[in-house]
Amino acid sequence: MESPLALSHTFLMKKTSLVGVLLLGCVSGLSAAPPFRGTVWLHPSIIVESDPTAFEAIEYAGRGQRTMFDRRLGAGDDSQGSGDWVSLNAYLFDATYDDGRYIEVQVNPEFGSAATAEGQAAHYALTIGQLPSALRKRIETVWIHKGDFRWGGGNDNILIHVGKAPEYLASGVLEEVLMHEAVHTSLDPDYRTTAAWLAAQAADPGFISVYARDYPETEDMAESFGPFFAAEYRADRIPAAMAKTIRDTIPNRIAYFKSLNLDMWPVAGRGPEPEPQPEFDPTSCPDDALCFHEGSFRVQTTWKAGDDSGAARPRALEGLDGGLFSFFGPENPELLVKVLDGCGVNGHYWVYLAAATDVEFEVRVTRHDGASKVYRHGGGQLAPAQGDTGAFRCE
Ligand SMILES: [Zn+2]
Repeated sequence: MESPLALSHTFLMKKTSLVGVLLLGCVSGLSAAPPFRGTVWLHPSIIVESDPTAFEAIEYAGRGQRTMFDRRLGAGDDSQGSGDWVSLNAYLFDATYDDGRYIEVQVNPEFGSAATAEGQAAHYALTIGQLPSALRKRIETVWIHKGDFRWGGGNDNILIHVGKAPEYLASGVLEEVLMHEAVHTSLDPDYRTTAAWLAAQAADPGFISVYARDYPETEDMAESFGPFFAAEYRADRIPAAMAKTIRDTIPNRIAYFKSLNLDMWPVAGRGPEPEPQPEFDPTSCPDDALCFHEGSFRVQTTWKAGDDSGAARPRALEGLDGGLFSFFGPENPELLVKVLDGCGVNGHYWVYLAAATDVEFEVRVTRHDGASKVYRHGGGQLAPAQGDTGAFRCE
C-alpha cells in the first residue's frame, strides 16, 4: 500500500525507520507494541456500502493515450510486483462529485469494451465519493487494471487492480483500503513532513500499527487516519475498547488531524465551501510556460534525467496553438505540445504532444479556472505521442 513511486525507496525507508524506532525507544523508554498489525483491517464497518457518497455522475469521454502505473509489470522478484509505467489507449471517464471535485478515471483497454470499463469506473468513483472531501482533494486520476495486486496512492492518483477486490470485499475493508490510499494521495504531500505532525508522532505513546511503526515516514499518516476517523466519526460502529485503544495510543495524532479542520463531506455535514479554485490571469504568461487561447491555457513541463531535473524551457511559435520545450540547451527541442479548440467538434479542448526524446518528463496543462491535466513519460525509451480529445470540457 505504498505509493507506486515509493516502491523503489523501500530499502532506504527500512533503514530510516529502524533509526526512528530506536530513537523513540530511547526517548520514551517504553514503546509498547502497536495494538494493530495494519489498520485497514481494523473494522469492516468504518465505511460501508450504504454510506452516503458525494459521487454525482460518470460520463464516458472516449479513448485516449495515457501513461499509467501497473504493478504487474517490471522485473522485480517481489510477488506483489515491482510495477512500471505503461502508455495505453485507455477508456476514459469523467467522474463528478457534488462538492465540485472532478476525477478522470482511466481504465486499462484489457477490459475489452467501454461498457465493461464503465461498470468498473462507476463502481470505484462512487466508493471514492464516500471518502471525506479532504481525501479526494488531490485525486486527479484513478487507474484501473486487472490483476491481483496491491492498490496504491500518490501521484495525484489512486491505483486499483480489480483482482484484489474480492479479498478486500471478503474482509469488508475495500472502502478502508481506499481511505488509506487516499491519505497517501491527498494528505501526505501537504502534512507528512510538517513540524506539527512530527511533534505529534514524537509525543504519542506509540504507533497505531506494526506497519506504521515499520515505515514511520511513509505509512504512519495513512495508517493513523483510519483509526482517527473510526474513533471520531464512527465510534458507534466499533467496540468501545477499540475506540479507547485508538485514543490512548495516538491522542496527539488525533488532535493534529482535528486541528487541520479537514472538509469531511459527505461523512460530516457540508464542510466549508470548496476552496476557491486557483485562478490565473490570462493576460500574462510565466517565463516557464507556453500559453494558448488568449492565455486561458498554460502548459508547463518538467524533466528528469538521472540525478538532474528541471523545468523545461518553452519556445512559443508565433500564431500557432502549439509550441516547443527544450530540456537541456535551447537549441535542442525535445517536445511539441499543442492545445486545440475542439469545442465545435466534441465539446472539448484537445491536448496533443509529440516527443523526440527518451528522457522522463511531465507535462501539466492548466486552464485559467484551475482545472488541469498531466501527461507523463517514464523515460528509458523513446516517448510515444499522446493525444487527448477529452482534455477539457468547453465552458
Ligand atoms: Zn500505505
